[in-house]
Amino acid sequence: AKEAGRNQIQFYEAAMHARVHERTLIEAELRHALERGELSLHYQPKLSLRSGEMLGLEALLRWQHPTLGMVAPARFISVAEETGLIVPIGRWVVRAACQQNQAWQRAGLAPQRIAVNLSMRQFSDPGLVDGIIAALADSGLKPHLLELELTESLMMHNVDAAVEVLARLKKLGVALSIDDFGTGYSSLAYLRLFPVDYLKIDQSFVRDMLGDPNVAAIVRSIIALAHSLDFKVVAEGVETEAQLAYLRRYQCDEMQGYLFSRPLSADGIAGLLRQEAGL
Ligand code: C2E
Ligand code: CA
Ligand code: CA
Ligand code: CA
Repeated sequence: AKEAGRNQIQFYEAAMHARVHERTLIEAELRHALERGELSLHYQPKLSLRSGEMLGLEALLRWQHPTLGMVAPARFISVAEETGLIVPIGRWVVRAACQQNQAWQRAGLAPQRIAVNLSMRQFSDPGLVDGIIAALADSGLKPHLLELELTESLMMHNVDAAVEVLARLKKLGVALSIDDFGTGYSSLAYLRLFPVDYLKIDQSFVRDMLGDPNVAAIVRSIIALAHSLDFKVVAEGVETEAQLAYLRRYQCDEMQGYLFSRPLSADGIAGLLRQEAGL
């Protein structure tokens, strides 16, 4: 038993070292990812559940590293957040998304609202609002075609600060969304203080709703709550026709998910938009 215990400890230590090593490696490599041009954006369509029309896109970061290969956001966003690297990277994301959106429009494609994810560190960056003003001015993108997605936990972390920053962003004319709704702790009393346009139901609810009546009830309640506060509802992670039908039946407004499309390159999106327009 002693022997087994010792082996177990060695196993945990090895696993911990591997984790620390991975984190150190990611951090060191991430420091140069921007300047080396290893970061890019992929875009996932958001569709109207009523008309089936493509209304918007969510920009999602991709990191193509020469030896690590394609590094998923789950492996590097938290490191970027902890080290503060998310601030310059996030600034680049906003600029790149605005410019790409303008490029599609210049190519004659239908205007889309483009959504960018903002993390806690970016949200508390005093330069955030000025950075967004500059990105809009430099690209010439109309503010209502830019959307910012902020997680529920981020907003609830410091409600007063969130309300203030959201008001400044709202004044610019950009669209605002609450991301991953249902996974954090929301106070309904606070929810109505946020000047947001969209509420995104977390994909875990969409995944489980048809197998669990309690989850289905939560989804219906979220839709009703959001509508009563005058927010539109977006369901993410929609993978099946049955999920789509259920969401449509309960008046969810928009959907995003593998059922329609995975995140695509800028060219992939241009292709989709051309197809939609019959070009
Ligand atoms: P998120 O904002 O909740 O983004 C949705 C994630 O779900 C994306 O993963 C997307 O590819 C994935 N997804 C979309 N449809 C489906 C589906 O039908 N089924 C399943 N199983 N998954 C689906 P991704 O691209 O790996 O991004 C993960 C997270 O990384 C994002 O979650 C977001 O929190 C973060 N992230 C990505 N890009 C950025 C960024 O530019 N800035 C910041 N701050 N965070 C980002
Ligand atoms: Ca998001
Ligand atoms: Ca989400
Ligand atoms: Ca509204």
